Formats: sequence, structure tokens, C-alpha cells
Amino acid sequence: MPIDEADHGPLPAQRELRSGSSPWSVGPPVRSVSLKKSTRCEVAVVGSGITGSLCAEALTGAGKSVIVVDRLPPGTLSTAASTSMLLWELDTSLAELSASHGFDKAARLYKRSFAAVEELGKFIAANGIECGFAARPSLYLADEGGTADLAAEETARRRAGLPGELLSAAALERRFRMRRPGAILSSGAAEADPLCLARSVLAAAAERGALVVRDEVISYAWDAHAAHLELAEGREIEAGHVILATGYDMPDFLDPPIHRVQSTWCFATAPERTERLWPEHALVWEAADPYLYARTTPAGRIIAGGEDEPIADAGQRREMSPEKIERLLAKMRKLWPEADYAVEHAWSAAFGTTEDGLPLIGRVPGAPRLLAAYGYGGNGITFSFLASRILAAMIDGEGRAWFDDFAIDRDPPPSAG
Ligand SMILES: Cc1cc2nc3c(=O)[nH]c(=O)nc-3n(C[C@H](O)[C@H](O)[C@H](O)COP(=O)(O)OP(=O)(O)OC[C@H]3O[C@@H](n4cnc5c(N)ncnc54)[C@H](O)[C@@H]3O)c2cc1C
Repeated sequence: MPIDEADHGPLPAQRELRSGSSPWSVGPPVRSVSLKKSTRCEVAVVGSGITGSLCAEALTGAGKSVIVVDRLPPGTLSTAASTSMLLWELDTSLAELSASHGFDKAARLYKRSFAAVEELGKFIAANGIECGFAARPSLYLADEGGTADLAAEETARRRAGLPGELLSAAALERRFRMRRPGAILSSGAAEADPLCLARSVLAAAAERGALVVRDEVISYAWDAHAAHLELAEGREIEAGHVILATGYDMPDFLDPPIHRVQSTWCFATAPERTERLWPEHALVWEAADPYLYARTTPAGRIIAGGEDEPIADAGQRREMSPEKIERLLAKMRKLWPEADYAVEHAWSAAFGTTEDGLPLIGRVPGAPRLLAAYGYGGNGITFSFLASRILAAMIDGEGRAWFDDFAIDRDPPPSAG
């Protein structure tokens, strides 16, 4: 069942982080309640998208009492807008990340991302979650001008022990029937239905006792021992820890300098005949800025997105939609002329990124009881999974030096000035 505005009613202008409808199924029902009186728990999670749901699952799995608060039905904001290409390749190439962070650290970060996709797949299989999860190759195309140095990227990956086979233009055309100056073909990626995944994970957490509350957090307070959430309907939650998983709607007191919000546009076709889809159901993206991204679905749809703009205003985003969708269609018809492209869903959304392409995960500076999980960028869902594991460990008092790689107050990468 597609999800659209009717599922949550109109959003306040500054909160309208997506418009239009996407093709995802809603997954299992998750019961949410209103709090009748103020209460306390070990961990309160603000946000029930994929990030909050994975955090709630990890924490209930560790035996914690958990309350998840969201002013919307679970998963219906950015998670419902996601194209859900579960890539381990970051928005910042390994070669670029090596230039700013040094090769060893860049390789370590890439391997962390690779392992997160692998672990997410194992987690979904172990819990029998039916969300269209499937392993897929990823195809990173050279842009049409062929300017990106894919050979240097492939060399860096080989040195790091990561997958990546350089395809010449001829090899790309033979195997995928796509015309570009070249590509890197990699294993280890996957796809899923993001809304169904998020709701299935939240349902599992609820079954283990997580309470899902439909309300809005209107203020946060904290001391050395606890954090306090004030809810719009008048109740309060006191929690040992609070996880902020509010997606691209960050509370005002969190304003990391390396983060920015932009806009992106997507469409999904009606199911195409199988022979009209490209080989191997590869996840396709390109070495261009902004880049085009595209995948297929088990139902035979083509989903494509991109045309990103550095704007955050929802009105502007909506106004630009017809033109942006036309441009995406023109790009896709050129890349893959074999499909029909009967557009059944079109949507636009806010999209958060960081200057180094890494997520923001960890303690909120100056607020010892608040932790944040902002899995930004094209690897948002991969990072949500990583965040859920890191934060559950932090709450249990476990620290690892590498957690600092994602610290919210880390410095911008040197090359970004
Ligand atoms: C168009 C698009 C395409 C994408 N494609 C990919 C992709 O291919 N692969 C990938 O890995 N990632 C992708 N991403 C990124 C990924 O989808 C996101 O990182 C991820 O969905 C974010 O999930 P979240 O749970 O953090 O946020 P959301 O799903 O936005 O959830 C946050 C929740 O917090 C709630 N909330 C916020 N403030 C409050 C408050 N004060 N009180 C109560 N509730 C509150 C909101 O109502 C919302 O439900 C894409 C994103 C977009 C928009």
C-alpha cells in the first residue's frame, strides 16, 4: 500500500520534510498510545523512523525499558521517502576520504560501512523480517564526461581489501547494456522496502515491551543523572538516557557545523515487464554531483532519484517537482532506454548530508544523558543500523576509540576548509 499525505495529515511547513507518495508497503501494524500520566523509563527514543526503530530494537534486546515517542505514525517521514539502496560505498569516495582523513582511517571507515550492511542483512534474516531485503551488486557509473578517476578509486579499494571491479565502457555495455565511459561493479550492497523494514523492527521492539507513544516532544532538559522530555499533550517522560532519532528535523540545541539539509526528487514507475529491467537488479549511481541513483524493486518497478538542490524550503521543493521529475526521467531514458517509464509515484524530500559523508552518532556535547543518531547521506539506513549498535553499547557503558569517528562535534574535514 503506498503511503502518502493522507497517512499523517498536513505537516507544519517547517516540518514538511517530504511531499508526494512513495510505493512502499506499510508492514505490520504497530500500536501507539497516548500517555495518561507522566512516566519514566531507562531509554526514551525520539523518532520512530528506521533509526529510532533499530535503536528501540537493540535496546529492548539488551533488556532496557524503552519508550519511543513520535508525533507521526511510525516510519512515515524520511524513511517512507527513502529509495533504500543499502550501499556500503559512501557518498565520499574512498580516494577522496583518504585525501582528507589519511588512507588507514578512510579504509577503516569504509570497512565499518561494509560490515554494517552485512550485519543488517544477517539481522533481518535472523529475525525473519520480510521486507524485500535482497543482496544486490552496486554499479558506480562514470559520469558522461568520464572525468571521475574510477581507476584510482578501484586501486584504493583493492588496497583496502574491499570489493570493486573496474568495468571498461565495452564491458559495461556487454554486461549491463548501459553506455558510460566505465563503472565500478561491487558486491556487498542490498535493497529493502524501508517502511516495511522500519515497522517490522519497531513491532519486534514493541513485542519485547517497548511502548510507542504518539506525541510531540516540545522541550528537552537534562542533568547529570537523567533527561526529561516535555510532551505536547502535557505529560513528561524522565529517562536515564534519551536517543534523538528525529531525522532531518534536529532540535535547535543541536546544530553541528558539518551538517546541511538539501532537497532531492524521486519517482517510481508502474511495474515494468521483467525483460525491461536492467540485468542483475544492480543498484545504480554515478560519479557526478549531484548524482542520479536508481534501483529496481521485486514488483518490477524502477525507482530513480537525484537532481539534488541546496534548498530546504518545502514550498520551493514542491514547485520544482514537475521539472525535476522530467529531468530525472530524461536521464533515465538515456541511461536505460528499454523501460516504459509510466510514472506511478513521484515525491520529493529533504535530505541531510555532512561535509565528510559520515553520520552523526554519539553523545550530545554538553548533555551527558542525550545521545544522537543521525544517519545522514545516501547511506542513511546503513548508518542507522550502525548508530543503533553504537548507542546501545554506549548506554551500556562500553566505549571504543572508533566511536569518535562519528562524533557530533568532530571537526570538518581539512579539505573542506
Ligand atoms: C529521497 C530520499 C532517498 C534516500 N535514499 C536512501 C538510500 O537509497 N539508501 C539509504 O541508506 N538512505 C537513503 N536515504 C536516507 C535515509 O532514508 C534516511 O537517513 C533515513 O530514512 C532517516 O531515518 P530516520 O529514522 O533517522 O528519520 P525519519 O524517518 O525522518 O524519522 C524521524 C522521526 O522523528 C519524528 N520526530 C521529529 N521530531 C520530533 C519531535 N520533536 N517529537 C516527536 N517526534 C519527532 C518524526 O515525526 C519522524 O517520524 C534517503 C533519504 C531520502 C529523503
